[in-house]
Amino acid sequence: MAERIHWTLGQAQQLFDKPFLELMFEAQQVHRQHFDPRQVQVSTLLSIKTGACPEDCKYCPQSARYRTGLEAERLMQVEQVLDSARQAKAAGSTRFCMGAAWKNPHERDMPYLEQMVKDVKEMGMETCMTLGALHGDQAERLADAGLDFYNHNLDT
Ligand code: SF4
Repeated sequence: MAERIHWTLGQAQQLFDKPFLELMFEAQQVHRQHFDPRQVQVSTLLSIKTGACPEDCKYCPQSARYRTGLEAERLMQVEQVLDSARQAKAAGSTRFCMGAAWKNPHERDMPYLEQMVKDVKEMGMETCMTLGALHGDQAERLADAGLDFYNHNLDT
């Protein structure tokens, strides 16, 4: 697990003010201190709930506000997700990410999401989710189920 850094506002501002190529160079140096620069982790991303999102991110075809021709789907069944995870593992992925198009998960979704994380983790893969805004207790529950990583678009 990566070392946790407690950023001050000033430190974050300094980072934002750096010229982009300088930032790239520094990032590569830090990366090389901790990882093999030629190694790439293969991850698979599955949309576990597609379309009909109430948000309006301008670039996103999953927003209910734009006509993109995308067919909306309900939250996938746990077993369907596990089938995809098995296929991903067989194809060489070591991390499996599950993403849902909504503003945030509802309480009724949580047991299914926790089960997905638990079962994918038991397959020996790293688990990753992107589900929009979480409450603190939802984050704790997913972590307890075995969630390793959480992604969140800053514009959602
Ligand atoms: S919140 Fe996520 S799924 Fe919804 S419109 Fe924005 S990027 Fe798309």
